[in-house]
Amino acid sequence: MQKKVYKESFWNLKDLLESHEGKEFDVVLADLEKKVKKVESYKNVLNNDISSDKVLEIIKDIEEVEKLCSKIYAYAYMWFSTDTKSQEARALQNKISQLVADVSNRIMFFSLWFKQLDDKNADRIIKGSNEYKYYFEKLRLQKPHTLSENEEKIINIKDTTGNSILNNLYNIITTSFMFDFVIDGKVKRINFSELSKYVRSTKAEDRKQAYDLLMNEYEKNKDTLGEIYKAIVTDWKNESIKLRKHNSYISPRNLGNDISDKAVECMLNSVKKNTKVFHRYFKLKAKLLGMKRLSRYDVYAPIFGIEKDISYNEAVNMVLESYNEFSPEMSSMAKKIIDYEHVHSITSDVKKGGAYCNDIHPGIVPYVFVNFTGKDRDVSTLAHELGHGVHDLLTHNHSSLLAHPPLILAETASVFGEMILSDKVLEKEKDKINKQALIASKLDDIYATIIRQTFFVIFEMEAHKAIDDGATIDKVCDIYLANLKEMFGDSIDVTDNFKIEWAYIPHIFATPFYCYAYSFGNLLTLALYQMYKKEGKSFVPKYLKFLSYGGSKKPSEICKELDIDLESEKFWDQGFVVINDMIDELEGLTN
Ligand SMILES: [Zn+2]
Repeated sequence: MQKKVYKESFWNLKDLLESHEGKEFDVVLADLEKKVKKVESYKNVLNNDISSDKVLEIIKDIEEVEKLCSKIYAYAYMWFSTDTKSQEARALQNKISQLVADVSNRIMFFSLWFKQLDDKNADRIIKGSNEYKYYFEKLRLQKPHTLSENEEKIINIKDTTGNSILNNLYNIITTSFMFDFVIDGKVKRINFSELSKYVRSTKAEDRKQAYDLLMNEYEKNKDTLGEIYKAIVTDWKNESIKLRKHNSYISPRNLGNDISDKAVECMLNSVKKNTKVFHRYFKLKAKLLGMKRLSRYDVYAPIFGIEKDISYNEAVNMVLESYNEFSPEMSSMAKKIIDYEHVHSITSDVKKGGAYCNDIHPGIVPYVFVNFTGKDRDVSTLAHELGHGVHDLLTHNHSSLLAHPPLILAETASVFGEMILSDKVLEKEKDKINKQALIASKLDDIYATIIRQTFFVIFEMEAHKAIDDGATIDKVCDIYLANLKEMFGDSIDVTDNFKIEWAYIPHIFATPFYCYAYSFGNLLTLALYQMYKKEGKSFVPKYLKFLSYGGSKKPSEICKELDIDLESEKFWDQGFVVINDMIDELEGLTN
């Protein structure tokens, strides 16, 4: 049999919608309206004595509404991301966003009702809710921190002119920044996305110039951004601690992730304790770059191997083969996504940058979006996004509301997939310099996704406390600089201008304490990888089962099945064994 040759592809969105206009689309919209009306009709049957069967009937109808909404929304979003210059695509996306927001307001009464229900009746309903059990349990988590209906309404109303506006202002100010970058003696005015490429430049002076321009712009706007931040932090404290009675600044975020405060604390402590592992790496990296010591400007400096061009066909085969060696089931699921023509890999200048995997709902094969340019990194990205797709397919035995994995487990299969691939690539690569480049770029990624994110959250905890105690924004900057110096120890020189760096992290403003989810997910995955290395093939079925839970169970319970205790620092330390091994390997190659 002749082997299939894979070519860069467009995707087929017809599995979502036949058309976004004309009669066909009108039929879809009419169907959505009918479904929403049906849900609305339940408003007057909700009462304390409602049977759990009736509640199940309602939730299944709500699920149908959400499924249809995600299908239409995904269509519009995905079309736009492949054709950002299209007026039509943009108009459709706006229209659908409005429609979806409107629908969600119309059916929100159900979850509000269930959150407010008395404990006895809520327990009765949860007991009879079969596969939806965890969905209802999660809704109830917010109950102790939910205020009266009128108070909730007031918070919603004041947020639209308060917190939301503050975040809009932050975005308006920071996205307008332009930078005068001097290249080949000429000044070029560029935006942030262009500037950020120079942070990874091979030339030290380009990296320095890029960072200096960036920090300078934020420093110039320090007073405005600082006032915005202080207001956001104060609002967070007033709402979370004073009104909703959470124990700590970070607790609301932990509850939202359904992770205990203790588990998060253990993870943060483990990272803090093991940061020295990276000090060793940065010293080694300085040696590889021929420098005495790295400065903060050089953190993402690439170690250059010989760039090889990889065809799309080779890339797909590399991913499928490495997946296949780990588990043929996983490989055939990844292949399914490609065979369904659900991968958009071709590059174009109207296409969005980056990559993503979009899981719409069980019954629809997930979609994968990548910009394939034939570089090593593109192969890892493909393995990463197909990993998400495989994860999603494994969860499709659940109903839609419970399929999608929670935030902290969502990066498991993707990062794991990258690890399997990179081990295979390293094994095949014979050139010493190329090997060094591969490992170093992997370690740079791990630094950025685990260590850096954890230290952001440690900074946030200190900053929230300090602002609560009346600190000035200069004091907040000093806290950040001390945090940076602690993170890098004696391995990297940090200049004072980086003390404003925190202000350019949007998550710190928009979703406080969000960043630890990256460290949590990535470190958990490295620990799983370490288990695989120890246990070999017998780990595979357990791992696939772990993934297949999706969002149907509490994360800590899913982990318990693999004997993972999230509340043990020792568990988290295991991820660092993998990192240490990588650094050992890199060191071995430098001698
Ligand atoms: Zn991902």
